[in-house]
Amino acid sequence: MNGNAAVRPVSCIAFLALALSLGACGGPGALVRATPVASASPAQVSAPAAACPADRLGTSRTLTLKREYAAYGTVQHAPLPLAKGEVVLTFDDGPRPETTPRVLDALADQCVRATFFMVGQNLVATPELGRMVASRGHATASHSFRHPQLGQLTPEEQLKDLEQGIQAYAAAFGSTPPAYRFPFLGETPTVLDALKAKHMTVMSVDLGIDDWAPNDMSTDAMVRRLMDNLDAKGGGIILMHDANGPTGDALPAMLKAIRDKGYKVVHVRWQDTSEY
Ligand SMILES: [Zn+2]
Repeated sequence: MNGNAAVRPVSCIAFLALALSLGACGGPGALVRATPVASASPAQVSAPAAACPADRLGTSRTLTLKREYAAYGTVQHAPLPLAKGEVVLTFDDGPRPETTPRVLDALADQCVRATFFMVGQNLVATPELGRMVASRGHATASHSFRHPQLGQLTPEEQLKDLEQGIQAYAAAFGSTPPAYRFPFLGETPTVLDALKAKHMTVMSVDLGIDDWAPNDMSTDAMVRRLMDNLDAKGGGIILMHDANGPTGDALPAMLKAIRDKGYKVVHVRWQDTSEY
């Protein structure tokens, strides 16, 4: 869309592969996921989802998080209060006109709601597409402004990108983002401290599907990676990229595989997030 290599997830490879492999190897907290829903802290409120035709995957429940500093995703942080077999669908790097609508259509076809982490400069280019995502009932949050490797920037530059991302989100949605996902999951103390001060939630991941080149981006390969990783973890926050065309192409098959295996989709959103 904008030809800026910085927002393309190609360079996710090294960082994400490292982060996800660390998670798969059992970093702190990796084995303490599957916290029973009944033990959810007062910080979270669960609600049943709207009705959906019986042959669709559907959203089994909504998990509404407080707008506060917290950090979730067992690759780097604590698990969300999910039961075994529950999954959270998350999409990064959009909105992108060439690819995001296909993802929205696939989600709507299966009556499932997801959480989108948006790049600020994409929101500046297509704020209406960002609002369309929200209007379909999905949750939205920030994924930086230029999708930089924050660790390679000075603290001042890091904070500038964070602030620009927040401003781009606010211009599109009329409210500040409730949460942030680090580009490449590359956390820095500077931005973590800033997120604490701003009461924003950090959302890492539990597993991914490696949906970027040069990995095999065929539908069969992505479905296989998804199910292998889901079966290994038992569920959790799934990282995907709505900015990648093959991900949207594979999404109907991935959602069918999730349904066929009996996983349940949980929609994660935040209190006070406006739904357009
Ligand atoms: Zn990204």
